[in-house]
Amino acid sequence: MSDNSKKLMPVLFVGHGSPMNAIEKNEFSDTWLKLAQSIPRPDSILCISAHWETNVTQVTAMAKPKTIHDFGGFPKELFDVEYPAPGNPELAEEIIRSVTKFNITADNNWGLDHGCWSVIRCMYPKADIPVVQLSLNCNGDNSFHYKLAKELLFLREKKVLIIGSGNMVHNLRMIDWDMEHGGAGWAVAANKILKGLIDHNEHEKLVDYQSLGKDVQLAVPTPEHYLPLLYALALKQSDETITYFNDKLVMGSLSMTSIMIG
Ligand code: ZN
Repeated sequence: MSDNSKKLMPVLFVGHGSPMNAIEKNEFSDTWLKLAQSIPRPDSILCISAHWETNVTQVTAMAKPKTIHDFGGFPKELFDVEYPAPGNPELAEEIIRSVTKFNITADNNWGLDHGCWSVIRCMYPKADIPVVQLSLNCNGDNSFHYKLAKELLFLREKKVLIIGSGNMVHNLRMIDWDMEHGGAGWAVAANKILKGLIDHNEHEKLVDYQSLGKDVQLAVPTPEHYLPLLYALALKQSDETITYFNDKLVMGSLSMTSIMIG
């Protein structure tokens, strides 16, 4: 074994924003590609996407996950996108077997939703790295997700790239269509509060985000785009650093702010 094989794979939380990032060449998608080129090539990817919520915890276990176009009102070009990355049934089985504190079941119906493929397609355009998704169990409270994520640490030793895909600030009802770049005052404030806590490893406070005041409550009106961040943070080791990328607000009420751990 080389020294490299003992290293932990980085962990990402990626702000995915608009599904159009999947097909647009822009500063966000450019960064995703550059990032993929700068980290060790993973053997497989495990994605926790904001767009797969279930009543139990599930992991995709099919050999050929389908591309799910789970959005409306976008151009045909986006609906035509297929991301034919293979699945990894063995990895799914290993996750089910290895995570003993939580019950995870195999799923053979889902596939890859846009929270997953819109980002990974830009990172690995050849679709030659197997991708598995883990669902967000709606019946779990915030700390359930944080604790479950800690059980996934072994994957980092096995060259699995874990990607949480959501948005730290995500309030679709407050979108300002005239504001392509930048965020409303509350959105900027919330992003700053969350980053400050991330920088100081204040994970307990981040888990209990509903107690972080009005700006954060506006930024996280529903949990699904925020929870993938908790999955990433839970996997951070005490000696690891955090690097931000795509740290920008768009359309008033969305932040693309993303982190790499390790
Ligand atoms: Zn989304």
